[in-house]
Amino acid sequence: MPETILNYVAGELVEPLGGGYLDKWDPATGLVSARVPDSGSEDVERAVDAATGALSGWAGRPAVERSRLLIRIADLIDERLEPLALAESRDTGKPLSLARAMDIPRASANFRFFATAILHTHTEAHQTDLAALNYTIRRPRGVAGLISPWNLPLYLLSWKIAPALATGNTAVAKPSELTPSTAAMLAEICREAGLPPGVLNIVHGLGARAGAAITAHPAVRTISFTGGTRTGADIARVAAPAFKKLTLEMGGKNPTLVFADADLEATVAAVIRSSFSNQGQICLCGSRLLVEAPIFEAFVARFVAAARRLRVGDPMDASTDQGAVISAAHRDKILGYVALAREEGGTIRCGGGVPASLPDRCRGGFFVEPTVITGLPMGCRVNQEEIFGPVVTVTPFHDEAEAVALANESRYGLAASVWTRDLQRAHRLAGEIACGTIWVNCWLVRDLRVPFGGMRDSGVGREGGDEAIRFFTEPSNVCVRL
Ligand code: NDP
Repeated sequence: MPETILNYVAGELVEPLGGGYLDKWDPATGLVSARVPDSGSEDVERAVDAATGALSGWAGRPAVERSRLLIRIADLIDERLEPLALAESRDTGKPLSLARAMDIPRASANFRFFATAILHTHTEAHQTDLAALNYTIRRPRGVAGLISPWNLPLYLLSWKIAPALATGNTAVAKPSELTPSTAAMLAEICREAGLPPGVLNIVHGLGARAGAAITAHPAVRTISFTGGTRTGADIARVAAPAFKKLTLEMGGKNPTLVFADADLEATVAAVIRSSFSNQGQICLCGSRLLVEAPIFEAFVARFVAAARRLRVGDPMDASTDQGAVISAAHRDKILGYVALAREEGGTIRCGGGVPASLPDRCRGGFFVEPTVITGLPMGCRVNQEEIFGPVVTVTPFHDEAEAVALANESRYGLAASVWTRDLQRAHRLAGEIACGTIWVNCWLVRDLRVPFGGMRDSGVGREGGDEAIRFFTEPSNVCVRL
């Protein structure tokens, strides 16, 4: 029997008011694994009411008390690492080993980070000669709407919930309806931790119904969104005329720049990870590999050999490197881009299809082979549109200027990685590549204090550290005559 997920409103686990549910599939098997509330505006209304009612009590608590509660939530996530990782793997199709090593530890780290950050914040003071003293006070903004995608479900949802709650806001959160399980388990954890009713509310359902009702609600004046660029544009259209404060973390088409002086062996191993982790479904994965001409063929040969060695299979199997992609529709979209690459003149150097052999349990699942494509011009659709799957292109460049030009030939600007032994060059390039994050000789090394986000069509605003604390608070300047 598929499990039934419930909404979390005013501290209670409740059915959707309309009584409707959606089926949710396990991407590794294709079988229905849960029923998810198909919430509508009436559920959002109830959740916003609860969040509004809880606001003054929560905002009025000393920071140290809010901190203690959030640390308790982090502790409970750590205690439940195994069941949470299992649920995350079943919802997303990602290898259980990845959920265990990355997703769940990061979710608890998010709570712990902001729980302690608010104990160490400070505000500014500005003295105007001898005439006046200005100081800034920061207050919570009220009810925050938090909307997150399916690729890193608890990791990204907690990345929003933790700073919103730490700074004294209350929240209505909507996870992707494709991956609701760990959010439902978080609701249980919050109840057990003693989070006051209404401080966090989780409403499950479709973006077009539940998500849109959150962003349109007049009492939700702060919106933090992570997801696709088209959805971000829809949300901005609603939020802008109502003057809501907004961060949008959106899509990417990230360049990976490999120079001839890079350590080839180590770089290939690292770029395999940056290309194919989570089946390429991390917004930060590099999908456009740019390789300096003298090592192009040597790099491609080694990279293709390494991609072929990745084991695609049952996410529950400890030896699996690549699990399933999120849905049949997404698999078909990815394979559609491989077909387009052929039409656009590309050569498929490996992969390009569904794995020939899969364990019996996974026969109905949604799998795609790691795929490497060469021979495409940078302007073509495969190099310009976000595929969000285990598909990368490799393009040669001849000098630094061409590398930068190719890297920047994109509507997106989320993240880049540069692989070289020449650190002067790396620093120079970092100032020229139009991305919110530039990694040098590393990838996905995350310090939660740094500003995180994208430029161009990848995003508006930044998350992380002080940026998040500023986002979720409203400053007032107090000017006192001396
Ligand atoms: P979507 O934009 O489809 O969905 C993201 C969330 O928004 C989901 O919860 C979705 O609900 C909801 N939503 C959809 N429509 C609306 C609406 N009109 N109003 C309010 N909410 C809505 O993205 P995906 O879930 O497909 O995630 C993949 C995308 O996320 C990729 O483009 C990826 O690059 C991006 N991403 C960006 C990151 C970053 O930090 N920049 C990090 C991770 C992913 P529902 O699921 O029901 O549609």
